[in-house]
Amino acid sequence: GAAMASKLEKASNLFQQHFSSSASGGGDDDDVTIAVAPGRVNLIGEHTDYTGGFVLPFAIEYSCVVYGQGKLTTSSSSSLSSPTQASLSFVSAQGSQELVQLQITSESTPPEKSSWTSYVCGTVFQYLVDLPQSSHLELKFAMASDVPLGSGLSSSASLEVSIARFVEAIIGTTFAFSSCEDDTNHAKIRAMRCQKAENTWCNSPCGIMDQYISSAATKGGLLMIDCTSLEAHQTLMASTERPLLVVANSNVQHDIGGGEYPIRVKQCQTATTALQKVNPQIQNLRDATLEDVEQAKEHMKDDVSYRRAKHVVTENARVEQTKAALEQGDWKQVGELMNQSHASMRDDYEVSCREIDMLVEIAQKQPGVYGSRLTGGGFGGCTVTLVDKSQAQNLVETLQKEYKAKTGKDCDPFQTQPAQGAHILTL
Ligand code: ADP
Ligand code: MG
Repeated sequence: GAAMASKLEKASNLFQQHFSSSASGGGDDDDVTIAVAPGRVNLIGEHTDYTGGFVLPFAIEYSCVVYGQGKLTTSSSSSLSSPTQASLSFVSAQGSQELVQLQITSESTPPEKSSWTSYVCGTVFQYLVDLPQSSHLELKFAMASDVPLGSGLSSSASLEVSIARFVEAIIGTTFAFSSCEDDTNHAKIRAMRCQKAENTWCNSPCGIMDQYISSAATKGGLLMIDCTSLEAHQTLMASTERPLLVVANSNVQHDIGGGEYPIRVKQCQTATTALQKVNPQIQNLRDATLEDVEQAKEHMKDDVSYRRAKHVVTENARVEQTKAALEQGDWKQVGELMNQSHASMRDDYEVSCREIDMLVEIAQKQPGVYGSRLTGGGFGGCTVTLVDKSQAQNLVETLQKEYKAKTGKDCDPFQTQPAQGAHILTL
C-alpha cells in the first residue's frame, strides 16, 4: 500500500545518499536486498511470555524496512583461524540519520551502555557465531520504519527481525542456520536470536513474544505462542460478522528509566520461589494453577507477589479461552476476557497508568464495543479494542475527541488487521 511505498522511498533515498557510486564507490541498487518486519499488537496474554506462558499477538502493517547490500567472504586458508568479522555501515531514518560505521567480531562483547545501534549490532552478532571461522561479512544498509518508537507496538522487535531477515538473505540459509540443521523452523530460530540480541546487547530482559510474532506471522492470522515449547498455533477469527480491531496510542511513556519491567520479571521469580514451597513441580509461573497461588499466599512475604502471580496465572487461562472464542466467533466472550485482562493488569500487575485507563474506559462505554485493554508492556503505550464493524468509525472519532479533551493529547487511533511477518520484498 501507500505506507509501504513511502517507507521504501525513504530507505532507498537514504541508501542512495550514503552509498551511491560517487559517494562511497560501488553502491549500485540493481542488486539490493529489501527485508521487512512488522510491529505487533498483543490481543491478550500480557507479561506472560517471560514466565513461559501463553500469548496471542498479531502483526500489524506498520513495519521496519531494511534496504541494502552485502557480501560474505569465506576464507579458503584453513590453517589460519581468526574470529569472524563484520563491517557494518548503516543509517536509520529513525536513528541519528548519520552514517554509522562499526566493526564487530564473533568475539565482541556488548557495549557497556546500549543505544539504538546495539539492536542492530546485537542482531548481526547472533549470526556471526554460525559463520565459518575467518570469514568476513560486509553490510551496508538504510532503514526506515513507521512503527512508532517506544509506544508498545514493538519497534524494537521489528528492527531486530528485519535486520535478521536481511542478514539471512545476504549469507544464505545454509550459513544462517548451520548450527541448527535439524530444526527447520527458521522463523522461530530467528525470533530466539533476536530476543537474545535484545536481552544481551540492549539490556532488556524481554520475553520472546515480540520477536516471534514479527518473525512468524502470516497475513490474516493471530498466533497463540506457547512460550515454553516455543510452538505457535495459528488462530483465525471466525468469519461471522467479524468485528474490527482499533488501536489507540496514549502517547505517554511513564517508565522512563525502563526500571519497572525488570522489577516485574524479578517479582515473578520471587513468587515462583514461594509457589515451589507448596508444589515442587512448579518450575515456572506457567506451571501454577490459581489454587497453587492461593495456597502459596502464606509463604509470600507480601501481597505483591500474590497479586503478580495471580495476574499471570489467570492471564494464561484467558489466552486459551480467547483463542477458542475467536475461532467460534463468540465476540462477546472475547471482549469480556479483554476487559478482565485489563482489570488484572491495572489492579494486580500494576502496569497500567491514568491515560491508558482513560482510553480503555472511553472505549468500553461506546456502542458496539466488545472489550478493550492495554496492549504491550504498559506504563503508557497503546490500547486495543474489539468493536463491531458498523461502530468502528464512531469509536475512532470518540476516542480522538474525548482523549484530547481530557489530556490535551492525540491518540492517533487506527483500525488494523493481522498482517504478514518478516519477508523479503521483491520489486
Ligand atoms: P517498542 O519496542 O515498544 O517500540 P522499545 O523501548 O522496546 O519500545 O524500543 C524502542 C527503541 O528501539 C528505540 O528507542 C530505539 O533505540 C530502537 N529503535 C526501534 N526502531 C528503530 C529504528 N527504525 N531506527 C533506530 N532505532 C530504532
Ligand atoms: Mg520493544
